[in-house]
Amino acid sequence: MLLLEGRSCYLIQILPVFFILGSVELFYNRETRSILLPTCLFKNVSYITPAFLKKNGIKALVLDVDNTLTSHNSQQLAPEISAWLQAMHDAGIKLAIASNNTKKRVIPFAKAIGLDFVANSAKPLPYGFMRAQKLFGVAKNEMALVGDQIFTDVMGANLYGIKCLMVEPLAPEIKASIAFKRKLEKPIMAKYHKNGGAYISAKEKQ
Ligand SMILES: [Mg+2]
Repeated sequence: MLLLEGRSCYLIQILPVFFILGSVELFYNRETRSILLPTCLFKNVSYITPAFLKKNGIKALVLDVDNTLTSHNSQQLAPEISAWLQAMHDAGIKLAIASNNTKKRVIPFAKAIGLDFVANSAKPLPYGFMRAQKLFGVAKNEMALVGDQIFTDVMGANLYGIKCLMVEPLAPEIKASIAFKRKLEKPIMAKYHKNGGAYISAKEKQ
C-alpha cells in the first residue's frame, strides 16, 4: 500500500481560522458565494451510489474521515459504511483519504480499511487533492470530494475545481471549534436548500 503523508506544521493548524474569516466575506459576496456550496448533499456516504457516480462521470473519490466515514477520533467503521466502501471497490471507483487530522489518528484508520491517505492535508488548501489526483490518474472532472464540512471540504473541492459530494455529519460535534463552524454553516446551507440544492436522502431517487 502506498502511503501518502502530509507535512506536519503548526501553522497548518491555525490556517482554518483565517479561511473561516475569509469565508464569511465570501458568503456575503454574491460573486463568490458559490465557492461555499456543494455540488450535491447526501444524507450519508451510503446514499452515494455507483449509479450516481457513473451518471456524473465520477471515477474517483477523495474521502474525508471525521464525521464522514466514522465519528470523531473513532477507529470503528459502521457495517453500513463498510458495505459502501466494498460497493465502491466492486464498482471500480478509486478511493483515497484526505484528512486534516493528524497521522496518529489517520494512519491506523486508513490501514484498517486499506486506503491510501493524506494526513494533515490542510483542506481547503489543495495539497491533499493534488496528491490524490496524482495517485488516481484521472482528470479533475472525473473526481469528487466526499466530506461533511463547508470551510474545509466544500471550499477545498471548489477551489481545486472538483465536484463536492457533501454528507451530513454522522454524529453531533464534540469539539467546540467545529461546533462553532457548524453555526457559521447554517445560513449557507439554508441558502443552499432555499435555492433548490440537490439533497439525496432516499436511494431510489437516484
Ligand atoms: Mg469531517
